[in-house]
Amino acid sequence: MFSWTDDQKMLAQSVSDLSRRKLAPYAEKIDESEGFNDEGFKAIAEMGLLGITADEKYGGSALGALEATLVMEKLAEGCASTTLSYLAHAILCVNNLQENASEDQKEKFLPGLISGAKIGGMAMTEPQAGSDALNQKTRAVRKGAKYILNGTKMFITNGPVGDVFVVYARTGENKKQLSTFIVEKGMPGFRVGNKLRKLGMRGSPTSELIFDQCEVPAENLVGKENESVSHMMHNLNIERITISGISLGLAAASVAYATKYASERSQFGRPISSYQMIQERLAEMATQLDAGRALCYTAARAYDEGADTMSLGAKAKLFSAQIATKAGLDAIQILGGYGYMKEYPVERYMRDAKLMEIGAGTNEVMRLIIAKELVGAWGE
Ligand SMILES: Cc1cc2nc3c(=O)[nH]c(=O)nc-3n(C[C@H](O)[C@H](O)[C@H](O)COP(=O)(O)OP(=O)(O)OC[C@H]3O[C@@H](n4cnc5c(N)ncnc54)[C@H](O)[C@@H]3O)c2cc1C
Repeated sequence: MFSWTDDQKMLAQSVSDLSRRKLAPYAEKIDESEGFNDEGFKAIAEMGLLGITADEKYGGSALGALEATLVMEKLAEGCASTTLSYLAHAILCVNNLQENASEDQKEKFLPGLISGAKIGGMAMTEPQAGSDALNQKTRAVRKGAKYILNGTKMFITNGPVGDVFVVYARTGENKKQLSTFIVEKGMPGFRVGNKLRKLGMRGSPTSELIFDQCEVPAENLVGKENESVSHMMHNLNIERITISGISLGLAAASVAYATKYASERSQFGRPISSYQMIQERLAEMATQLDAGRALCYTAARAYDEGADTMSLGAKAKLFSAQIATKAGLDAIQILGGYGYMKEYPVERYMRDAKLMEIGAGTNEVMRLIIAKELVGAWGE
């Protein structure tokens, strides 16, 4: 359907193997315990994927959004939670530094993040600033050779396990006067809040990050003061395209499980897969999945070719998130009562997929971005 090079096919195959061996067997356990798959994360590091878009001189693989999206799909087929933590590390943190940090900052932070010695994350959202991201109140004030940060970040993926965070903070009164900082665990005045309990993606730890007179060395300012909006928008663009891969992986897992189950389960003396209503549901799921792949990989390729993908990326994220949740619900229906039980993975696929409609911008925000391109303004 989509033309892949031999290298991309090999990448997909080896990531699928890793996902099957190192992620899938632990997905149920970390969902139940709200744990974190350290070994799986290490295996991803060993395959050289933690710096998938970073330069080779820092240990990265120097690949594009297309390969990153493909990797997300294959990993998420095994465990969406671990893949979400991987995305926060490799795209929200590492890719952001690759694109915006100075040479000195890259040399200092990227090798440790890419080897897996350190785990990364990104902190933009605040209690009062979700969709309205420019309403951030966390403030950074320069004091000699340091910045002093005060404020609270909300819903931060990898908060409880992370070592290095890309943090946005206000440095001026205008709503666009935000700056980007690298904050490390252990810096005075930096604290991680309690782990947040969630509906899905329970194997991807989330928390608040609290800055109370937090002292950040001035050399950890990324780029210039008040430059964050361009960092944020550029990184959100690749984040929305690559996170679509997680939705595709979840939808693929639902299609595969429901298809296998339907051929094994018999009622009224025949496999339920022989009933046209079941076939129709499976056919719809598979069609939506392939339509999602066509859209998401087209958006990823366009991003790599330097096209403006703000709207196309929003379409990819919106469509793939919706089909992932729908595929999870459809898979539950095909499994009947068993689908509703924890012993079967499809209820987890549905719970995990719901986050795809919220994180990295909600479905509504995606529609606003798409409509803006069509009618030239945000809807009121
Ligand atoms: C598990 C998880 C992990 C996350 N990880 C991170 C992370 O690592 N880093 C980070 O910075 N953030 C992270 N987030 C935050 C995420 O990006 C936000 O939750 C998201 O942007 C929505 O913000 P909100 O939750 O404040 O909802 P709100 O913005 O309060 O939205 C509430 C509802 O109102 C709707 N709405 C808002 N504005 C409009 C409008 N103008 N028109 C129509 N409808 C509107 C929304 O679509 C939504 O349905 C994470 C969130 C979750 C749940």
